[in-house]
Amino acid sequence: MSSKWTTQTIYREHVEGELAKFMNPFPPCFTPAALGMIKAGTRIDLPWTKGFLDAFRSEELWVEDGDPKEFIAEEMPGVVRKKKKCSTCLDLGYYWRAHTGQTTHIQAMFQEDCECRFYHLVWILWGDTNTVPEPYRNVTLDDLTPSPRSNLSDPAQQKVINLLQSCRDYSFLMYGDTGTGKTHFSIALLQHAVHEWARKICNNAPDATSERTVFRIDAKAWCDAMLEFSRRSFDDNVKLPDLTVTRVRKMAEHEPPIRLFVIFDEIDKVPPSEGRLLNLFQLCNALSECGAQIVATSNHSPEQLVAKWDSEHTGPILRRICDRKKDEKRMRLPLTAIVETTDKTKDNPEDKK
Ligand SMILES: [Zn+2]
Repeated sequence: MSSKWTTQTIYREHVEGELAKFMNPFPPCFTPAALGMIKAGTRIDLPWTKGFLDAFRSEELWVEDGDPKEFIAEEMPGVVRKKKKCSTCLDLGYYWRAHTGQTTHIQAMFQEDCECRFYHLVWILWGDTNTVPEPYRNVTLDDLTPSPRSNLSDPAQQKVINLLQSCRDYSFLMYGDTGTGKTHFSIALLQHAVHEWARKICNNAPDATSERTVFRIDAKAWCDAMLEFSRRSFDDNVKLPDLTVTRVRKMAEHEPPIRLFVIFDEIDKVPPSEGRLLNLFQLCNALSECGAQIVATSNHSPEQLVAKWDSEHTGPILRRICDRKKDEKRMRLPLTAIVETTDKTKDNPEDKK
């Protein structure tokens, strides 16, 4: 190895991974754009010599100079929809920020991830109309408030909201009549799951993945599609649904396991057919074994589901979604019953005796 270090040597070494090791945990700064920005510190005469590099390598504490670039969260809805550029990073996803080594006094520019990355990631799932219909795009779990359009009383809605906010990683069967807020409440939990997914990627969490982990599935359409797939003939162009037992199991093999979030919308619309119920059971079983969070919405109560489907499949399916065993985080969430109890206690406090 020569003792003279030229910009070319440094760059090549970096590209070949030699320098990448000591650059950790910093993002690479020896890109051609950054080379010119590195200045010699007080202890080093010449940049790009072996001495400079040794000093650079020895530095253990890099401190950012000044404040981070201003980030404007309000412009994000426009940025993710590609209607305007992020004014912090001009849509590069990062910007350069000066750091000073506390021992060597070397000044260097390091890449800083722009916060817009988080919003872009969220939009991948949130902006998908199949996942979140347009009218629900502003729903957030933390900002949920009782809706005047709901059939539930405000106090009843507030009870549900408090419960969801304190049990945000629970599986639920939400059941009640039309207009009780099942879609709204389930999408609030989905919003939370989407943000968790994006946050993990931005923080390089060990269970981060760029694969989709959040699903909202029309239960009947899914069961129909699975059945159609199993009955296809060789020349049919029938596709498997996105979420399958195999996919669930594959995500669980990740180390540490990746937690899936799945909404089964209108689960009561699944017709009582052996094949459909078996597929639904197998998916719920895989999800439950892999610790996924399942949120099912239904117009029917669990008892009505047993009557509509059959006892052979219904019990096992419900057990995997909403029936609690030991300390599992599962719950039945009746949206009609809450109205009744609330109204009763409000109007007739004597009833309790
Ligand atoms: Zn940005």
